[in-house]
Amino acid sequence: MCARNDMRNGKVAMAEGFKTQALSGWGRFPVECCNVYRPESQRQLAAILDSGAQPSLISFGLGRSYGDAPLNRQGGVICHTRLNRFLAFDAQASVLECEAGVSLGEIVQYFLPRGFFLAVTPGTKFVTVGGAIAADVHGKNHHQDGTFGNFVLDFKLLTSSGETLSCSPNNNFEIFWATHGGMGLTGIILSARIKLRPVESAWVLVDYQKATNLEDALERMAESDVHYQYSVAWIDCLATGRDMGRAVLMRGNHAPAKELPARVRDPLAEPPQRGWTLPFDFPSLALNSLTVRAFNAFYYRLHRNAARQLVDVEKFFYPLDAIQHWNRLYGRRGFVQYQVALPLEGGLEGLKEVLTRLAHSRRASFLAVLKRFGKPNPGLLSFPIQGYTLALDLPVARGLMPLLHELDRVVLNYGGRIYLAKDAATTSQSFAAMYPKLEQFRAIKGRLDPRGLLSSSQARRLAIVEK
Ligand SMILES: Cc1cc2nc3c(=O)[nH]c(=O)nc-3n(C[C@H](O)[C@H](O)[C@H](O)COP(=O)(O)OP(=O)(O)OC[C@H]3O[C@@H](n4cnc5c(N)ncnc54)[C@H](O)[C@@H]3O)c2cc1C
Repeated sequence: MCARNDMRNGKVAMAEGFKTQALSGWGRFPVECCNVYRPESQRQLAAILDSGAQPSLISFGLGRSYGDAPLNRQGGVICHTRLNRFLAFDAQASVLECEAGVSLGEIVQYFLPRGFFLAVTPGTKFVTVGGAIAADVHGKNHHQDGTFGNFVLDFKLLTSSGETLSCSPNNNFEIFWATHGGMGLTGIILSARIKLRPVESAWVLVDYQKATNLEDALERMAESDVHYQYSVAWIDCLATGRDMGRAVLMRGNHAPAKELPARVRDPLAEPPQRGWTLPFDFPSLALNSLTVRAFNAFYYRLHRNAARQLVDVEKFFYPLDAIQHWNRLYGRRGFVQYQVALPLEGGLEGLKEVLTRLAHSRRASFLAVLKRFGKPNPGLLSFPIQGYTLALDLPVARGLMPLLHELDRVVLNYGGRIYLAKDAATTSQSFAAMYPKLEQFRAIKGRLDPRGLLSSSQARRLAIVEK
């Protein structure tokens, strides 16, 4: 067991083949004591499964999900970062085959200078291919392209019985779509073949537009998102009344090489890696409604409507990656990212009610991001539904959990759902009501893993698996 002091100091206890250590997701809440393995080969991985040394096991990529999805209290956690080899590349078809521990950053670093980018990328590149499949991640282009899963041709899945299955839309179809969004519970993704996007440059042409409120933002998105492959809005979550949801829309397309100015000598050169580190935990009270209100007013005023601004891919897709350990901003107690999806019908009212309840709670989200979702895929636990998604970062403090449960009820009322990759708080009842294909998922999981070896703290909290 991790003693309280060990948890705080991140100290570890050595044991055979694994280290017992305190682990958390990106939100640093919850922190749990887990037995962590770092296999270097698929043979070692299979041996861990076979050993029976742990009551249960779950995969861990780069820990960029926010809550307890990759954690396994008092159980085994398999870290994939040493299983990160590129296996094959077909430039003609833009298809990369790689191990699941390869990070999206490694793919960008190697393939962007060769004219290929990710077809779908989340807002950080510190995510593994396995983590991207398991959470079926989305990017700023969901309204046009759907999720990461739409670009996975096939993958190899190691089941808890030690069998390796090849899964694709034509082979083991059900398992393929249970694994996209299945949060590591169907099996261990060993490798995948994914389609990359050919690009002519490492730049995006971006239009910035201010929207006076939520209606204005959603109308603009509905009218003209079709012209943009990428679309996202920052919103002021503290503005109320007629200004509620005032926003800055940032929408763009990959820049063709011929549209770059002469100063850009190599259109595909990797953008500079900006970076500084947040060296310490901020005091928990640093981000309060006063400081966030001041920041939001400044940020909204700072932006002007501007067309065709040339922005490099690092800055456009991964603005937060420039600050290492930015999660320390929320203090030692950590934070929860509350991300919801709401359907087109009634979605505007649902978003307004979420923002109103947040304002009444006197809490503020430093980051509030709004996107539009296009059509969902067949993923049984995949998050996106056609409509809108809003993500809010909320520091852990007294009263947060009851607030999140209250917001869950609002979201459910409007036919929406929360995102497992961000979740640390939802109840099993709310989760079951939000995901109508849960029973189907449980049946497939039961067939693949009858002993229930693959389990996480989140899966037990949400009763996706038996406790
Ligand atoms: C700054 C930031 C921005 C983000 N922006 C977005 C965004 O725009 N869109 C979005 O969708 N998400 C976003 N995310 C969330 C992130 O993309 C997902 O949580 C992703 O799953 C994290 O991948 P990971 O490799 O870190 O996996 P982890 O967080 O370690 O694990 C996530 C899940 O994947 C499972 N898993 C990992 N590897 C494997 C494997 N090999 N086999 C089977 N299961 C596996 C784990 O068990 C766990 O359930 C963001 C996160 C951060 C920190």
